[in-house]
Amino acid sequence: MILVSACLLGINCRFDGQSRTNEALLSSLKGAYYIPVCPEQLGGLPTPRSRAWITAGDGDDVLAGRASVINEAGGDVTAQFIKGALETEKLVALFNVKKAYLKGKSPSCGVGKIYHGKDLVTGNGVCAALLLRKNVELVSV
Ligand code: SF4
Repeated sequence: MILVSACLLGINCRFDGQSRTNEALLSSLKGAYYIPVCPEQLGGLPTPRSRAWITAGDGDDVLAGRASVINEAGGDVTAQFIKGALETEKLVALFNVKKAYLKGKSPSCGVGKIYHGKDLVTGNGVCAALLLRKNVELVSV
């Protein structure tokens, strides 16, 4: 079973209330079974919501309690990001997910690159970091 960042499938779940539909991905998934997931919504955050980023390090540091996720409004949304990752982990276990297509550069879904404020740095988002620990193959889209 495959997990996919919902915003890539046309679901308007991004912080700005929009999606980032990826037609090539949709075509490649034709006929496949997959689960759309938005970790930030699963964590209880509203849509639209304030843009957020990891303050230091990456998702692994957030999961370990060494870093926080803050938003443009100055709020600390670390707990919601961790909850969203843990809820996604439940879906991985329930559906025996082995592979995930995740939206690049997101503080939740980013694989390999994330933002610290306006700076693009090396690292994974909070949910991506947890999925890697569960041996899910991650593809950045
Ligand atoms: S990148 Fe991930 S958390 Fe952000 S809107 Fe898309 S699915 Fe939701």
